[in-house]
Order: sequence, then C-alpha cells, then structure tokens
Amino acid sequence: MQTLTHHIGGAAVEGRSGRFAEVFNPATGEVQARVPLASAAELAEAVEVAAKAQPAWAATNPQRRARVLMRFVDLLNRDMDKLAEALSREHGKTLPDAVGDIQRGLEVVEFCIGAPHLLKGEFTDAAGPGIDMYSMRQALGVTAGITPFNFPAMIPMWMFAPAIACGNAFILKPSERDPSVPLMLARLIEEAGLPKGILQVVNGDKEAVDAILDHPVIQAVGFVGSTPIAQYIYERGAAAGKRVQAFGGAKNHMIVMPDADMDQAADALVGAGYGAAGERCMAISVAVPVGAETADRLIAKLIPRIEKLKVGPYTAGRDVDYGPVVTRAARDNILRLVESGVAQGAKLVVDGRNFALQGYENGFFVGPHLFDHVTPEMEIYRKEIFGPVLSTVRAASYEEALGLAMSHEYGNGTAIFTRDGDAARDFAARVNVGMIGINVPIPVPLAYHTFGGWKKSAFGDLNQHGPDSFRFYTRTKTVTARWPSGIKEGSAFNFRQME
Ligand code: NAD
Repeated sequence: MQTLTHHIGGAAVEGRSGRFAEVFNPATGEVQARVPLASAAELAEAVEVAAKAQPAWAATNPQRRARVLMRFVDLLNRDMDKLAEALSREHGKTLPDAVGDIQRGLEVVEFCIGAPHLLKGEFTDAAGPGIDMYSMRQALGVTAGITPFNFPAMIPMWMFAPAIACGNAFILKPSERDPSVPLMLARLIEEAGLPKGILQVVNGDKEAVDAILDHPVIQAVGFVGSTPIAQYIYERGAAAGKRVQAFGGAKNHMIVMPDADMDQAADALVGAGYGAAGERCMAISVAVPVGAETADRLIAKLIPRIEKLKVGPYTAGRDVDYGPVVTRAARDNILRLVESGVAQGAKLVVDGRNFALQGYENGFFVGPHLFDHVTPEMEIYRKEIFGPVLSTVRAASYEEALGLAMSHEYGNGTAIFTRDGDAARDFAARVNVGMIGINVPIPVPLAYHTFGGWKKSAFGDLNQHGPDSFRFYTRTKTVTARWPSGIKEGSAFNFRQME
C-alpha cells in the first residue's frame, strides 16, 4: 500500500507523528493508501520554511509571479488526464466530472495571472498643497487553507492561486480523504517555477488544523467544509487575530414556477441533484414546485429521468452519470437520513435503498432517491444530506416558495425556473442567498466574479476568488507624502481643513 507524504520546502517529507488516515478507493471500498496526519511540530516546521521563503517571493515583481502561474496552467493541461484519474480514484466522481473539478480551479489560476493589474494601487495627485496620497496592497506573509474532500483540485486552487499571486506563502491542509491531487498540484507548480516553500502541503486532521489556527506567524486562513467546522475555524482563527474566511454547508432550493419549461426544469434538477452523487455544495437538494399541478407535472417528468440514471465506477468512463460517495460512513449517514424521511411521512417516490452494483458490492454506492411531500420540519429538509437524494416541498404560491428559501438556515445557492422576467427579478432582488440561478440550476460564478453564500453557509466578510480574493490575501497600506515646498509652512496642530 502506498504511504503518502507531506510536501514541505520543495520535497516529499515523510510523516513523523506516527498517526495515519486510510485513503479509500470509494468504488471498490479498498484502502489504497495511507496519509500521514501531521503534529503541531510538523506544521510549525512548514511555517518556518514558508516565513523564510516569502519575503523574496513578495519582492518578485508581480509580472514574474504571474508567469509562474501561466506555466502552471500549461502543466495542468499537460497532466489533465493523470490528475483526473488520481482524483476520481480517491474521490469517486466520474472522469468528466474530475476534469471539471480541475478546470474550474485552473480558471481561477488564469484569473490570477492578472495580478499585475489587480494589485495596482490607488493614487491621488495633489491631495493637498504638495501632498500626494497613495494606497498599495501588500502581501500578508504566511497564509493557510483547509479544504474539503468534494473538490480536491478546484478549492485548493481557489485559495492558493490568489494567495501566491499576491506574494504570500501558502500552507495547504487538504482533506485527508483525497490528498493525492493536492500533492501533485504542489509538485506541478514548483515545476512551473514557484520557489520552494511558497506552496506547501501539510496533511492532517484536527491537530494540524488547530496548529494552523493557533500559529502566531500565520496571518490568514481560508476554510471550506461543513458548517459546524466552518464556524469553529472562524471563531478560533479570529480570536487568534487572524483574517478568516470560512465557507460551510448548503441546502439549495430550486423554485419551479407554473410557467417554467417543465422538461428543462426536470433535466436541470436531475443534473444538479444527482451529479457528483449530490456531493456538491451547489447541488440542488430541494425542489419547490409552485402549485399542485406544477408539482404533479414535475414529479411525472422527474421519475423516469431518475430511474434511468447510471451509477457506477469512474473506470466506466463516460458511461456513468455519478459514482460512489466518499466513505462508508457518508453512505450510512445518507441512508439513515432517507429512513428518517420515510419515518417522518415523506413519500419516497424513487427508492434507491436497495441499490447494488455487481462486482462492486463493497463500494460506497448510493442509488438515487426522490422524495415528494417533504415538509420543513422534517430532518431530510433541515439537514444537508450531501448525497443523491432530492426532496420536493410543494408550495401553494410564489411567496411561500420564496419564504422557504429565505427561512432555511443555509444560504449558499438557489435557483428559479420561470419564463416570467418579473418573477425572476423579484426573486433575485429579495432572496437572502448568495448565488442565484435564473433558469440555471448550479449558478457557480466564474473565476472573475466571486463565490460565497450567506447565512450559515459562510463566515467572514470576503468571498472566494475574483476581486475579493485579492482583497482577502493582501492588506492595504496608505501613504501620505508631502515634499519640501509644503513643509516650509511650519507645524500644524489640527487636521487640515479643505479650503
Ligand atoms: P468537513 O468539514 O468534514 O472537512 C473539511 C476540512 O476540515 C477537512 O480538511 C478536514 O480535515 C477538516 N476538519 C474536519 N473535522 C475537523 C475538526 N473537528 N476540527 C478541525 N478541522 C476539521 O467537510 P467535508 O466533508 O470534507 O466537505 C463537505 C462539506 O463541505 C459539505 O458540508 C459541503 O457543503 C461543504 N462545502 C462547502 C463549500 C462552499 O463553498 N460553501 C464548497 C464545498 C464544500
């Protein structure tokens, strides 16, 4: 069995804590590798390396830093198949979906190539007699990120690309479920010319995370994962004086208005509900048809589509719609929630409970499930299931549907399907959710916009990628400069008034 390492100071470094986690192939259920879990002392070594390397990197002009990212994009494309295979083998998602995971990270790297322009400061000429004022964005120093299992390429790149483009060093603590691709990315960006110690990967669990949160040299922490951990990271990191952005879980509603194209809505729901086995923070997990007739029409369109879904291992290539979930524990939790839905009175109109795949009996596969007549008190509505389970909550009116999305504790994404521009505009204006789709089921903003939810889906002030990421990974310094002609006037004892 393969034993993975950390990536510290430009080299593969073996774990010394004596603690390891098992890395599974979710399609077969076999343990395929073990990953070392770092101690606080191992994390501290990476911080020391980063702190030594960072000043020279920050002093490298931004265009040269951007060139490293340009070469990194080329290498990502060169190794795309290899990366996607490694990603699917540990995560379980289909190969085309793994390529999408890498591609959506790559696009953020492309955006960050604009660093020379994005980091330009502001300048006011003649702010007063002989006075110029300018603001510049400076790197923070050593920064860190803690990432979830569900996008092992995209989310690390969302964090480290802007951090590095801004002149920081970055320590990545990836998910212990699928750490191989993050390690490959660190090697690849060094091949692209990144100096050693600027991007390091320290594998681990809570011990490494707590060490990041408490380390006085680390200036900023990015986190993506489940809400209870996001809240914990935000509070502990902020208490230690760090800048923190922490993104959490989701329960994304899709409102289907009576005038929607019902085939389009059903196709969208099936892709957004079951793609990646529902393990996306932007997956649609709640369908909200407006009016009984809309609900009946929608359910009738959904059932045959869902029954046709092909579930299988990534090795089947394009012949599968979604793969296994990430662990046996995740599968058991999903099936427990399905049972709770049945027990609480929801109608299970597509029942995936007895799903089995010949030859893959030990894999973590979950068949597709569709619930109708779900109500807001039910556990399957309140909790994030993170599996191939779509719940239908029937709403009598548009206002009731809007109210459902608004009252849910999560506010990551939501969508409305309608032909009515007035309803769509009203929905986008009023709903208290961060990312809105209008006839688009998974409205993940592109790299040059920002990504972030509201309510319990995000803690902190700035979003991921796009212009916000350049704000998050820099601090502003403002200089007021006056040259001799003004100084001749003598001392001033009060703030200057503008005449
Ligand atoms: P998770 O919270 O279990 O783990 C995320 C990270 O936190 C991992 O690196 C893990 O090692 C670490 N961690 C886990 N338990 C910890 C603890 N007790 N103390 C400190 N660190 C701990 O999440 P996951 O299962 O890997 O990912 C799925 C979750 O992530 C879902 O809730 C999903 O909605 C969410 N997610 C959110 C977004 C977003 O942008 N809002 C994007 C992707 C995933």
